[in-house]
Amino acid sequence: MSKKIVCDFCGSVDSEHNPIVSGDHANICKACILAAHEIISSDENKFVQEEANHAPSKEVEIPSPQKLKDILDQYVVGQHRAKKVISVAVYNHYKRIFKQSLVNTNDDTEISKSNILLIGPTGSGKTLLAQTIARYLDVPLAIADATSLTEAGYVGDDVENVITRLLQAANGDVKRAEQGIIFIDEIDKIARMSENRSITRDVSGEGVQQAMLKIIEGSVVNVPPKGGRKHPGQDAIQVDTTNILFICGGAFDGLEDIIKKRQSGNVLGFNQTKKTKADIENIVNNVEADDLVKYGLIPELLGRLHMITTLNEITKEDMVHILTEPKNSLTKQYIKLFKLDNVDLEFEPEALELIAQKAIERKTGARGLRSILEDIMLDIMFNLPNLNNKKVIITKDVVNKTKEPLVA
Ligand code: ADP
Repeated sequence: MSKKIVCDFCGSVDSEHNPIVSGDHANICKACILAAHEIISSDENKFVQEEANHAPSKEVEIPSPQKLKDILDQYVVGQHRAKKVISVAVYNHYKRIFKQSLVNTNDDTEISKSNILLIGPTGSGKTLLAQTIARYLDVPLAIADATSLTEAGYVGDDVENVITRLLQAANGDVKRAEQGIIFIDEIDKIARMSENRSITRDVSGEGVQQAMLKIIEGSVVNVPPKGGRKHPGQDAIQVDTTNILFICGGAFDGLEDIIKKRQSGNVLGFNQTKKTKADIENIVNNVEADDLVKYGLIPELLGRLHMITTLNEITKEDMVHILTEPKNSLTKQYIKLFKLDNVDLEFEPEALELIAQKAIERKTGARGLRSILEDIMLDIMFNLPNLNNKKVIITKDVVNKTKEPLVA
């Protein structure tokens, strides 16, 4: 009589329902294989973290500030001062991370982190600057809106969740995440109530600022591996934020009044004259840290945002440039899309100006351009496959929706 095969783990006998897999020296039944799989999967997070911790992290190559600015010039129209500031800050930041240990070992001067504060109206290119830099350096980027952030324990997005997002952008590679960039927009909206301002602000903004300060300063943050809220017993991944570059952005409406008051010692009378955009921009260009404290940023947080720069409102002329000049500009994308269907596409200059004008009216900066163009192009795109070998010209009347595009 042949010997019965039994599972070496649980002692079950080989059967149709619970077959046994035999190795050279051991047997295991289906039930035990499934149980083992479950145990291993539930420990997966640990393995992911282990792997991530040991994954070789690519060192970022540091291009010169001029090279960085050249790259920004290809994607971002205007904003030359902001581009210079960012190029220098990013260069210093990564030099600090990668080169500091290489130079004179007797010198114990520590170079502090150059986080950046971008002050500029909505749709002026703040996020685009951060995105372009991150893409070029091939470092992970997480974008968050300060208004959606809360102090830990409140309903909303914990400040620390931003780190989780960065970790996700780094595909779980902790070392890469630790060299990444975090862009926090609308930081002006979490300004605390200040005695110098009459508008009511959400006082809890200060709590969020404190929470942000902790991660900007550099601390080891325990983040849940898959995002969401922390649960007791859930394995956390530790991310050191010391070398993460923070770029904060905000419109800071009304900041010009605070600056003007500081400059003249008296704001009376200023409000009575109508300020042009250029006036406001000129004033805001002179911003100092104290003005931002008056606006409601806590001094500790500002102390961590060393590089402060302003972006100008996008003018009609800029809008036309944005439509046509940058790499991947909207019109270039449409032209390519049409080319794929063997159709030539042309935008008349007056049409571009009118689109720019419509975007200005929306008051959302250059952000409005895409939806305006999408709306104009929808019907034409719908018919595109029928226009093989033709040329489509977008005129002013097409933008005004009074005429169909010229097809030649
Ligand atoms: P915000 O300043 O509000 O962060 P964004 O950078 O998100 O604005 O800009 C929104 C969109 O508008 C961008 O995706 C980009 O297409 C366009 N845009 C804004 N400013 C510029 C600019 N200076 N140059 C080129 N495109 C721009």
